[in-house]
Amino acid sequence: MSSSDLSHAATAIRSAAQSGFPLALMCHVSPDGDALGSMLALHHLARSQGVESVASFPNPFTVATHYRSVPGLDLLTESSAFPLDPKLVVTFDCGSLQRLVELGPAAEYARTGGELIVLDHHATNDRYGSINVVDVKAAATAVVVRALARELGWPLTRDAAICLYVGLVTDTGRFQFSSTDPSVFELAAELASFQLPISQLNRELFDEHSYAYLRLASRALGRAVLDPVRQLITTHVSQHDLAEFGVDYDEVEGLIEWIRSATEAEVAIVYKEAPDGVRVSMRSLTKVDVGALAVKLGGGGHVRAAGFTMNASVEAVHAAVVAELDALS
Ligand code: AMP
Ligand code: MN
Ligand code: MN
Repeated sequence: MSSSDLSHAATAIRSAAQSGFPLALMCHVSPDGDALGSMLALHHLARSQGVESVASFPNPFTVATHYRSVPGLDLLTESSAFPLDPKLVVTFDCGSLQRLVELGPAAEYARTGGELIVLDHHATNDRYGSINVVDVKAAATAVVVRALARELGWPLTRDAAICLYVGLVTDTGRFQFSSTDPSVFELAAELASFQLPISQLNRELFDEHSYAYLRLASRALGRAVLDPVRQLITTHVSQHDLAEFGVDYDEVEGLIEWIRSATEAEVAIVYKEAPDGVRVSMRSLTKVDVGALAVKLGGGGHVRAAGFTMNASVEAVHAAVVAELDALS
């Protein structure tokens, strides 16, 4: 991220605000804590400055229950009501336009029409914006949003601080991943000064599950397969499992954290059957670039955490992964 990208982004936002154009904010499909938190943080800050903004993400228009305390969920707009010809679009935590695809005409217009500001930290970001503020060293998009707010001279509010904290704490795995450098703790300290409900957020974001989820997770852990030669551990969750236990797809987001704890595995993968195909969550420990692997298979992400979606059977997706993994080594 260069400081000139940041200042271009701030200039474009100021000029849209002065012309009375609403800021159209979008984050990636199936938003996680960073996508939701970084987008809603800017939504809150715009409102606190009297700047109109609208915030959305592609269908399905649902947010996982563990994000229920993120302030501003009631200020989101369904993608069907999103402005069709926004003059200024800002995207959050979204490495390619593909991840906004269901915003349909608005996403397309964003590419061809007005200014498109991309705020992101994915190594695989393909620079689809007219202004790309992409900091691949940032632990979360929330870090980029904090820098932008400073550039704009927009002081943080408590709601924005909670949102940014959710982005930071989720994308750093509770300050555990290798992206956790001194600047992460400095930002966390700044955010914590807003009297954040830290233990409540921790419990809701990471440490509570329905009994039904525990039973589903038990099944998924029970059928995990370790491939000792490839140092690969995999498991899957089917649509049938979700229906049988009455668990929402959103709830299984954290299953990868349990699978990846296997000491024998360099790479951990969870295959999740969703209506649009098999969604794949991948993590690696120290060697394999799962971001590169994901790009080969039509997705993206980071070196140690990445994903893709493929419309095929779990077996076929696994075969494709293994073939790419073998080609990499
Ligand atoms: P997840 O396993 O869903 O937590 O995702 C891990 C990382 O991979 C995140 O940074 C995601 O943004 C990225 N990612 C997951 N799925 C996709 C996809 N279909 N396309 C691009 N990036 C993805
Ligand atoms: Mn994300
Ligand atoms: Mn992120």
